[in-house]
Amino acid sequence: MQRDADFLKRTIFHARRVLATAALLLSSCSLEDLALAPAQTQNFDQLRKTMVESQLRSRGIRNENVLRTMLEVPRHEFVPAEFRARAYDDGPLPIGMDQTISQPYIVALMTELVEPMRQHRVLEVGTGSGYQAAVIARLVSQVYSIEIIPEHAKSAAERLRRLGVQNVEVRAGNGYLGWPDRAPFDGILVTAGATEIPPRLVEQLKPGGRMIIPVGSAPEEQVLKVIQKDAAGKVQTRDVIPVRFVPLRKQ
Ligand code: SAH
Repeated sequence: MQRDADFLKRTIFHARRVLATAALLLSSCSLEDLALAPAQTQNFDQLRKTMVESQLRSRGIRNENVLRTMLEVPRHEFVPAEFRARAYDDGPLPIGMDQTISQPYIVALMTELVEPMRQHRVLEVGTGSGYQAAVIARLVSQVYSIEIIPEHAKSAAERLRRLGVQNVEVRAGNGYLGWPDRAPFDGILVTAGATEIPPRLVEQLKPGGRMIIPVGSAPEEQVLKVIQKDAAGKVQTRDVIPVRFVPLRKQ
């Protein structure tokens, strides 16, 4: 009897030690490690589903291809480790060097407004984390993305390569001037706020193409605009919603 009790005590003691060691190991894991754990990945899948329904579909995003793409692209891979748990929140997040990854709804809206088609070649100005580029890349044949901060251009290009995105070319440079070597484009997404519509970007739009761009003389006055060039080259502009983007640098 006494021996059984001793055995039980020893077993409990041993089990406690194992548990304590496991807890210690777990707490010393970096966020990075945790993000890769299967349970966490499942959690992200669930958060992404909820994001698509409650932030996108409910607010009027209708294009099923866009909704599917937002469900597929792992946004948590595009935010710094310390913000990973908030990757599917309804807002922008810091990505370093005073820049932000846009709110999921704005990414989906811009993607829908550019009316992507399989054969399209699209320019993005403001690569940032590479998330918008990864989203639009799933819907068109080729994306060219230009970023003025070389460190962001480099890390976004590496991230896209690591995630297996093959149809995005990233370059460091001033996108206010477009990317003349790759022009003309079926679509242009400008993901930084301009004070006026950049003339070189309008020039680099194909007849029949559209540019989606936030424009405003001050950050609190920005409006998301659709600039459409018809087959004859005539340009029409319409306002969609008020927005707030980081500034588009002219140089
Ligand atoms: N599309 C990004 C978010 C963009 S944040 C994403 O999905 O994560 C805006 C980005 O535009 C910043 O990285 C900023 O450095 C860049 N930017 C600002 N002015 C620019 C310019 N003239 N040319 C290219 N990039 C510019």
